[in-house]
Amino acid sequence: MDKFLRWKDSSSRADEEPSTSVTQNLKKVVKRKNDEDYIKYGFSWCGDETAPRPQCIICGDQLSNQSMVPSKLKRHLYSSHPSCANKDKQYFKRCLEQNKNRRNL
Ligand SMILES: [Zn+2]
Repeated sequence: MDKFLRWKDSSSRADEEPSTSVTQNLKKVVKRKNDEDYIKYGFSWCGDETAPRPQCIICGDQLSNQSMVPSKLKRHLYSSHPSCANKDKQYFKRCLEQNKNRRNL
């Protein structure tokens, strides 16, 4: 008798439309520009070359990849290291070299 009670799982699955909300979420992969561009803001970079992250030469802070824009780098420099805001590339380069040497030791 039970055989009659075969409930077909007829939950009619209406073809769920694949939510094609075309999110134009184009991943912004910031291409690494010239190092020189960042060094004048006191930044170097670290991490993957495809998704480099700016790293502050002075305090070693790592910012997100999205922050790899001059305005953000500048902001960090000006707000965190106002005393270095007027330094030139050479100064940061020297700092960078020193940091590297220290790391290698
Ligand atoms: Zn910093």
